[in-house]
Amino acid sequence: MVRFLARWIALLGFMASFSSPLLAGPEVVVYSTRGESLIKPIFDLYTEQTGVKVVYLTGEAGPLIARLQSEGARTPADMLITVDAGNLWQAADKGLLRPVKSRVLEAVVPDQYQDEDNRWFGLSLRARTMVYSTERVKPAELSTYEALAEPRWKGRLCLRTSKKVYNQSLVAMLLEHNGADKTEQMLKGWVANLAAPVFANDTALIEAIAAGQCDVGIVNTYYLGRLQQQNPTLPVALFWANQSTTGVHVNLSGAGITTHAKSPKAAQALLEWLAKRSAQEAFAGINMEYPVNSATRWDPVVKAWGEFKADKLNLSIAGQRQQEAIMLMDRAGYP
Ligand code: FE
Repeated sequence: MVRFLARWIALLGFMASFSSPLLAGPEVVVYSTRGESLIKPIFDLYTEQTGVKVVYLTGEAGPLIARLQSEGARTPADMLITVDAGNLWQAADKGLLRPVKSRVLEAVVPDQYQDEDNRWFGLSLRARTMVYSTERVKPAELSTYEALAEPRWKGRLCLRTSKKVYNQSLVAMLLEHNGADKTEQMLKGWVANLAAPVFANDTALIEAIAAGQCDVGIVNTYYLGRLQQQNPTLPVALFWANQSTTGVHVNLSGAGITTHAKSPKAAQALLEWLAKRSAQEAFAGINMEYPVNSATRWDPVVKAWGEFKADKLNLSIAGQRQQEAIMLMDRAGYP
């Protein structure tokens, strides 16, 4: 209820900001599924540097994309920021994002992390890899996501729900690499190995490993980073998956300019600024993610995890094969 009220108050403030004559002047309107705590400091910095105000509304990806769709040409939004390439792909597929021609973005954002038609660009990268109990597992026992289906992990594996887009994207990419039959077999193996019911979030999963409920799991690294900051002796470490095969599954948080943007030029200026080194350090660092701009320094916690080989496939596949991935997870009984 508190959350519901907070949302309405935020929404009222958001709507008021359109009608207030005091707030006239250059501005960009952003819909963001990246939370306020992650974007506000970045937008404040932008306003400080450029004088351009950024008005934003945050929410969950599904409702925000649906809202953009129902608003159609009347939408106030110039830009959409979401986490997970699967969400950006959905928005582009629904015709909600426009192609952006930008030498800056082409130079900075690697091809695999942007839409072929330039309707969205990655801004920060998030690795989804394995974590394990340092008390009960030796890293030499680990190798690939696929190998977590082996019987030796029976009663030792923890997974987050298949309803989360992070896992849908991971499975979609593995499906592209391995084909439907092998992927279904892998998923059945994972399910057979579960030590506990699937988790609602990555943090609870990592805590379950620390508490001895299971030995190994799959999470986004920044969740481990947050817990490591709170507790440096946490008996959980991360392992870079698939280093001798396809590479770690890397997803992204990114943005596109809406089809019906009222200020597309101002939105593009903001998008290009977000990809620059100065903004990248803050944008990625604030959540212990990886900057998409390779000239940017990594957060110290992130740096301590070391370098890794990432999957080279274009992340559009996460969107394209999402429905198949969901169907396979369903068929394998992965809740
Ligand atoms: Fe997350």
